[in-house]
Amino acid sequence: MSWSWRLGRLAGIPIEMHWTFLVLIVWLVIGHTVEGHDVATTLAGVGFVMALFGCVVLHELGHALAARRYGVTTTKITLLPIGGVAQLGRIPEKPVQELIIALAGPAVNAVIVAGLWIGGVRLTGGGDPRFLIQGAFLPRIMVANAFLGLFNLIPAFPMDGGRVLRALLALRYDYVQATATAATVGQMSAIGFGLLGLSVGNPFLLFIAIFVWIAAGAEAAQVQERRLMHGARARDAMLTDYQTLRPFDTLERAADALVAGTQHDFPVEADDGRFVGLLTREALVGGLSRSGGDARIADFMTEKPLAIAADAPLATAIERLRDRQERCLEVVDQGKRVGIIDLENVGEFVMIRAALATGFEPRTSPRPDNAKPLPLAS
Ligand SMILES: [Zn+2]
Repeated sequence: MSWSWRLGRLAGIPIEMHWTFLVLIVWLVIGHTVEGHDVATTLAGVGFVMALFGCVVLHELGHALAARRYGVTTTKITLLPIGGVAQLGRIPEKPVQELIIALAGPAVNAVIVAGLWIGGVRLTGGGDPRFLIQGAFLPRIMVANAFLGLFNLIPAFPMDGGRVLRALLALRYDYVQATATAATVGQMSAIGFGLLGLSVGNPFLLFIAIFVWIAAGAEAAQVQERRLMHGARARDAMLTDYQTLRPFDTLERAADALVAGTQHDFPVEADDGRFVGLLTREALVGGLSRSGGDARIADFMTEKPLAIAADAPLATAIERLRDRQERCLEVVDQGKRVGIIDLENVGEFVMIRAALATGFEPRTSPRPDNAKPLPLAS
């Protein structure tokens, strides 16, 4: 479950709101109430935050549309209380592309600031910047956008500034090491945010500190993993010894298979050998508790696994499994099934490669041409 609500689509990209966003609104309303503000002031406060998050959506859209220029799709944009996240299908390994995608978000804020500034100066009869300090709605939005753009440029990977730093480092150094360095700088910034948040009593800075800390470590690990998978194909990590079930088998038979082996999800195979569905462990357990062991698998299976070519890069298989949240894929070679693959296989495959790689450097690296060891790398 993703704990997010779909608000709609912009430029074809789903915009979602995480449930914790409601906590922010409730927190705001309580804050205003505690301070004895009337309804109008409270609504204005909430309206300001909503307008600000409208700007956050535009910021993320800036990233997404820049990414689209390089053929990178954006799965969705999620609004969190600490800001927005544009989930890109992949991160381009060409540093210049990442640089432009990272800068596109803050650039949107700069455009908003410039637009409001020019509009504000016009409205006040030209050349009078005093409209800024009147505390009105649009000036506050302008200042907040300036803050948003600049804040995001702090080199706290994986915030925009951190991505800029990684891209700049990757222009000169090996990609994995550039990421490791950017992640280290990011985690140091996270400590800074955390200390600042504690000393001024700002919970949002603490949230951001935790987010940056976790996300920086996760992305560094992911890049490391990608290096370990470099050159690997779907067939290298596929499972060839697996069990399938039939649509008219009973859930009891599926339960036996679940207990007897280590497999969690079972492809459901028709008489002609084609996959027609997938029985996940959750569906099986749910079906057993609702309908008992005599129920048919066909009533509880989900959609059939998507197919992937055996020679497709393993990274593509992972992208589908992880980002599109597919449970398992059917690996086919010349129209014939040769195996299945799920994240558990991939994890084992990466573990084995990591174990092999600790003894010696992998011969291949994503960018070996101009790679130099990086002195700062952790
Ligand atoms: Zn951004």
